Order: sequence, then structure tokens, then C-alpha cells
Amino acid sequence: MRKPVFAANWKMNVGPTEARAFLKKFLAKYKKRADRTVVLIPPAISLTTVVAGLARRKDILVGMQNIHTEAKGAFTGETSAAMARAAGARVVLVGHSERRYVFGEPDSATAIKCSIAVENGLTPILCVGEKLEQREAGTTEETVLRQLRAGLSGIEPALIPKVLLAYEPVWAIGTGRTAMPADASHVHRVLRAELGALCRSQKTAAAIPILYGGSVTDVNAAALLGAGDVDGLLVGGASLDPVKWSAIVST
Ligand code: PEP
Repeated sequence: MRKPVFAANWKMNVGPTEARAFLKKFLAKYKKRADRTVVLIPPAISLTTVVAGLARRKDILVGMQNIHTEAKGAFTGETSAAMARAAGARVVLVGHSERRYVFGEPDSATAIKCSIAVENGLTPILCVGEKLEQREAGTTEETVLRQLRAGLSGIEPALIPKVLLAYEPVWAIGTGRTAMPADASHVHRVLRAELGALCRSQKTAAAIPILYGGSVTDVNAAALLGAGDVDGLLVGGASLDPVKWSAIVST
């Protein structure tokens, strides 16, 4: 019922020239498939290059790694949701752990970013995940549920299905450590139950894709995707290599 979503977060890698080279290799390998959604999330500077490179591949979506909470104004270095949408973005990452813990972005900002994204026709991928110390303290569920409730707090229940969710344990991001598929599956189930409560319909929540992210590679992608309630993958490092990425999206 849920179509798998494969999203590549290039972080601060892949400028416009490299993006063109990536697309040449990737598009030669990955042919359109109706049974999955593929999203490329380049750094903002490469967004329009990627959008232009996909002019004949509308099956592949392009996303932003971040948007600002305000619509316009004196916010040097920032990009608004409306600008991102006008430039061709259809998706935006919200609450990525690097935004939370490197840039100090609070839950209140993730709430505004999710709602401003939806208002502007962007699909937010709301990222939630526990740090290692939270996992060791047994507060994984409490942590991800707080992040989920906060992130969706500005969105009315009927619009919650416009959001995608990604469970990304912070200790797994860029570390080479992944969650065991069964552990990921458990957290996804907990998140889906809460989504049901928030949108007041378990049936509606059952249709919302929940992606797993954290050191996904072409080697472990199948096992993670095969876990219950894991509906897609959010991939950083391994998405930078067009050969590995085409293997992952073909899982
Ligand atoms: C990410 O940045 O969202 C991510 C999951 O990174 P990596 O795949 O490199 O762990």
C-alpha cells in the first residue's frame, strides 16, 4: 500500500558541476519505476542544476535540505519555502539531526518549518531520532515522540498526511552503525501509532511513509527495507556515489 520512498541527502557535498556528472551516471542506470519514489536533496546551490537535469525525468523529485521559518526579509543566507518551491523543490528536510544538534535548531523551529512547507506546497520529511545517550538511558521512544508531536504541532490533523517521517537514530548517522532492522521496525510502529492519534485515524496514518536513515548502504538497504513499517530510506554518504545510489533505489 505504501510506495517506498528513497531520499538522497547530499548534505554540503555535490556542487553544480558534480551534480551534472552525478545525474549523467545515475540516470543511465536508474530507469523510471512506478512502484517507488526517488528524491534527490542537493545543497541549495545545486538545486536548480538538478531540477534542470531532471527536466525529462519528472518521476524523480528534488528537495531542499532546509528552509527558513519566515516568508521573506532580512535573513542573510536563508531560503524561504516559497522560493524553494518556485525553484523546483517539492520536498524539504525538517529537523535533520545536523540542523538540531550542529545548528541548534529547536523543536519550535521544526514545527514552523513543517507548517510553512505544507502551506507552500512542499512535502516536509520530518526527521526524528535519539542520541546515543538517550538510547542508553532507555528514552528513545520518549525522544522521538516528543520530536514528532512538536514537529507536527502547527499542522491541522487533516493535513498531517502531507508530511513524510524519517526515523534517524543520531548515533547511526554517518557512523557506519545502523539500527537492527527489528529495532527500526519497533520505533516505526511506535511512530505510526502516534501519527494515528495525531491525525485521528489509524487508517490515514497507515498510508504515511516512514523512512529509516542512518548509515544505509547498498549492502544493508534490503534488510532495512524488508523490516515491518520501514517504508523507505533516507541516505547520506552512500547517496553520493551514483552507482551505490542506483543500487539502493533499485532495492
Ligand atoms: C543523513 O544524513 O540523513 C544520513 C542518514 O546520513 P548517512 O546515510 O551518511 O548516515
